[in-house]
Amino acid sequence: MAETRETLLRKHPELTPAAAGEECGWLNPKLVPYASATLPLPLSAIREAEERLSRFAPLIEKLFPETAANHGLIESPLRPIPAMRELLNDRYGAGIAGGLYLKMDGDLPIAGSVKARGGIYEILKHAETLALREGLLHAGDEYSILAGEEAKRFFGEHTVQVGSTGNLGLSIGIISAKLGFKVIVHMSADAKQWKKDLLREKGAEVREYQTDYSEAVRQGRMESDRDPSSYFVDDENSTDLFLGYAVAADRLKAQLEGQGVTVDAEHPLFVYLPCGIGGAPGGVAYGLKAVFGDAAHCFFTEPTRACCMLVGMATGLHDGVSVQDLGLDGRTQADGLAVGRPSSFVGKAMEPLLSGIFTVRDERLLVWMRDLMETEDIFIEPSACAAFAAFPHPEVLREYCRERGLADRMERITHIAWATGGSLVPQTVRRDYLDEAKRLAEK
Ligand SMILES: *Cc1c(COP(=O)(O)O)cnc(C)c1O
Repeated sequence: MAETRETLLRKHPELTPAAAGEECGWLNPKLVPYASATLPLPLSAIREAEERLSRFAPLIEKLFPETAANHGLIESPLRPIPAMRELLNDRYGAGIAGGLYLKMDGDLPIAGSVKARGGIYEILKHAETLALREGLLHAGDEYSILAGEEAKRFFGEHTVQVGSTGNLGLSIGIISAKLGFKVIVHMSADAKQWKKDLLREKGAEVREYQTDYSEAVRQGRMESDRDPSSYFVDDENSTDLFLGYAVAADRLKAQLEGQGVTVDAEHPLFVYLPCGIGGAPGGVAYGLKAVFGDAAHCFFTEPTRACCMLVGMATGLHDGVSVQDLGLDGRTQADGLAVGRPSSFVGKAMEPLLSGIFTVRDERLLVWMRDLMETEDIFIEPSACAAFAAFPHPEVLREYCRERGLADRMERITHIAWATGGSLVPQTVRRDYLDEAKRLAEK
């Protein structure tokens, strides 16, 4: 039985502002030094995921020529955004003295969002398993043979299904259809029309529900379970998705080195990751801690009305609690983050590793979207703008630095806002967002 709002707030008074729909910065009391953290997934699993993606790179390059420059690796640029930093410092006294960078996952090829990491990885792994079992593929083979007619026909006898608020569906839909799978995407009410249209154009079947994300996932899982030839991508429980995201960390390390940025105990790295169900930010953060250890400080960011990870982690109830239990409606313009109940395992995995969580009101997202356009000429979608959620609350960041013995090196922090989506947003939709942002700014 779910606990009542009153019980939850009595036990966790720190959630009172969140329950009132207010923005907050929560610092994780369970964060411990990396060496003493219990890790549910071995680091060798991240290594394996990296190796699998390398094996598939020739196939990806063949199927998606836009990845040729990176030889079939799906990666995004890391860009300094000094003008945006200045704006955040001026407007909020954000106190960003070190570098501020944007990790531009909205520009990831194929799916245009962070979901190009986890989603594509999981489908490639599934395809590999099927093809090896069928004898279409043998260890040591060149994986581009999977682009052939025989493989495509074989995959066509199999179905992939997924529940999505939009971007996961796009990622799974595009890669699955390209490989030849039948694919059914179960979309929640928050999903944007253009994402449904694009998926249908790519050959996916889209089922629409007037319910929230958890319900779309439930329907998808149920339908998939009825069909032995169907595979369900389970965003609520999938470690494959998680590992696909975790691979980002090693690549980021190379990018930072390439740009002459040092990360060590004296030069901390603060990373801000927009969070829905938790898989993407959790996987990336898990990888970052593996690569940088205590030098990496990871914060999740969530919409005030859909702060499911905050509620799950602060109460320790994880997927046993929803934002609705706290009296919030879970509705947000940030469709990629419109999730009312967190993943079953990410919050637990992150308990010793996560630095904290910031929540943000929807109105700010559109304003930041426009700010980033005007200062840096970069477009990212509203969900991705949640990556700036910490900066209106510099006192929380300062408190964190005091508590963790970083007060003397705040000026040497490198901040990375993880911009999780945007390049596929159609021009007409971008214009609507920008018009809306302008109205908000004039209010
Ligand atoms: C999915 C998504 C996220 C968060 O990922 P989760 O795995 O749901 O936590 C963040 N930003 C965007 C744009 C997304 O599509």
